[in-house]
Amino acid sequence: MQSIKSQEKGANVLKIKKICIVGGGTAGWMTAAGLSNKFSDLGISIELVESDKIGTVGVGEATLPHIRYFNNSLGINEKEFMLATRATFKLGIEFCDWGKLGDKYLHPFGDYGMPIHNIEYHHFWLRLLQKGHKSRLCDHSFPVLAAESGKFQHPHGDINKIGSNYGYAYQFDSGLYAKFLRQYSEDRKVKRTEGLVTEVFQDSESGNINAILLEDGTNIESDLFIDCSGFRGLLIEQKLKTGYEDWSNWLPCNRAVAVQCEQKGPSLPYTRATARKAGWQWRIPLQHRTGNGYVYWDKYISDDEAAHKLLNTLEGDPLTEPKQLYFKTGKRKKLWKKNVVAIGLSGGFMEPLESTSIHLIQEGITALIELFPDKSFHKSDIQEYNRRMDLNFDRVRDFLLLHYVATQRDDSEMWKFFRNMMLPSSLEDKLQAWLNRGYLTRYEHGVFHPPSWLAVMAGQNLLPNSYDPRANNFDYDTIKTKLDNLRNENKIAVNKTPGHASYLKKFGASIVN
Ligand code: FAD
Repeated sequence: MQSIKSQEKGANVLKIKKICIVGGGTAGWMTAAGLSNKFSDLGISIELVESDKIGTVGVGEATLPHIRYFNNSLGINEKEFMLATRATFKLGIEFCDWGKLGDKYLHPFGDYGMPIHNIEYHHFWLRLLQKGHKSRLCDHSFPVLAAESGKFQHPHGDINKIGSNYGYAYQFDSGLYAKFLRQYSEDRKVKRTEGLVTEVFQDSESGNINAILLEDGTNIESDLFIDCSGFRGLLIEQKLKTGYEDWSNWLPCNRAVAVQCEQKGPSLPYTRATARKAGWQWRIPLQHRTGNGYVYWDKYISDDEAAHKLLNTLEGDPLTEPKQLYFKTGKRKKLWKKNVVAIGLSGGFMEPLESTSIHLIQEGITALIELFPDKSFHKSDIQEYNRRMDLNFDRVRDFLLLHYVATQRDDSEMWKFFRNMMLPSSLEDKLQAWLNRGYLTRYEHGVFHPPSWLAVMAGQNLLPNSYDPRANNFDYDTIKTKLDNLRNENKIAVNKTPGHASYLKKFGASIVN
């Protein structure tokens, strides 16, 4: 048996001493910030390489509430962050024309009522609905009503009060977020190197990447490489040939055109996603401008037509030229291979319908910190990382697909395609459980919890045949009064909530309207 002393010596020899991050987009700088926060004081040096010649993807402005935990873990002050990134608050996403043309609903970051005698609230709503008592599920949610009225305040600290049980996220300028995190990282000894990576060297025995070469001849060696090089996957794919799991049979939209425009009207605390004949369009309001884009399937609309349609539906004058983006939905077969971890677009991409990409970056960083390796790159660490990230990606894929299949639309070839498609079995099972009796399957991993599934299914009129039979054990009028009361209390609470724009101004934000 090895002595403790020799084990310690061994651990020291194997210790990761240098991390090189290739890429300085949102993924690169989030990774640099996350790792420098944990490792700078532990004698691990971090270098980030980025190239102005290539630039960043330049989109990615809507987030999920989890980003607050990321920022908090870095010790970032919310006000400073919001001012630096021209951020607005986000209570959810409004979906227009998804169930059918003319419909709209909001997917909030929050619940719909508390369980009654351990039976989920929506079963009582379904019972009333089936008895002909019509109310919108949305009216049972404070964040939906607040968002619809253009209002916002931080959740109440007292969990017994209306207005406490919801989350919120941000809509921000991604370039400014990267800049903000760059400052944070450089303050924590991250070295930034500007330069184009022209060659990548691999150890002939282990196959690990041992160095990268820049255009100016600089050679950078490292123990661990993080590939944040965007869609090209410079290390994980171009060098290590990891392979790509193509999901375009399920999510076939493969292009987007993005443009920023002037903001008209008050700054809204939510993102909007409007379904179109060949895809969908986003609208993301920041403090000083609005981000817009059209995600589409090139089989059914040309780039020019998509750009034309986008420009025709802007609410204000365009501030930028339309930017065309091409992608293939899916993920790398392995997000961690040898001594390379792919974080961000280099690892995979799904359309931004539920603002999930930045969240997946965050998941990647968290998992890497938890499973931080030594130079032996133990198989079990790599397997566990890939298992976790695969699940995260799979869950997001199913949830995005739900929006396309829970629809009555058949007014274009794209919508007809979705009506006839074979679903992944994980999604098929989940839908069956819902349709049978309103049961919402809980996943062990995955960002979207039952209320999110409920929001989309009910919002797009995919209603179950029945509900939990235990909901029948309660007096109908008592239940009806309970639900009526919650809707009324929500309305009263929203009336007392400040407007989003004035709340932002109190923060010191310089908003347009
Ligand atoms: P990039 O921004 O492409 O950065 C790549 C970096 O690698 C750059 O710094 C580049 O200079 C560097 N690089 C590449 N090659 C080399 C080389 N040879 N040498 C040196 N440096 C190199 N996400 C959300 O969460 N919410 C959204 O609303 C959202 N909307 C999106 C809309 C669209 C249309 C698209 C395509 C994506 C969207 N995303 C969204 C995803 C989000 O934009 C990305 O997840 C995020 O920006 C991270 O990108 P990245 O850093 O991985 O890649």
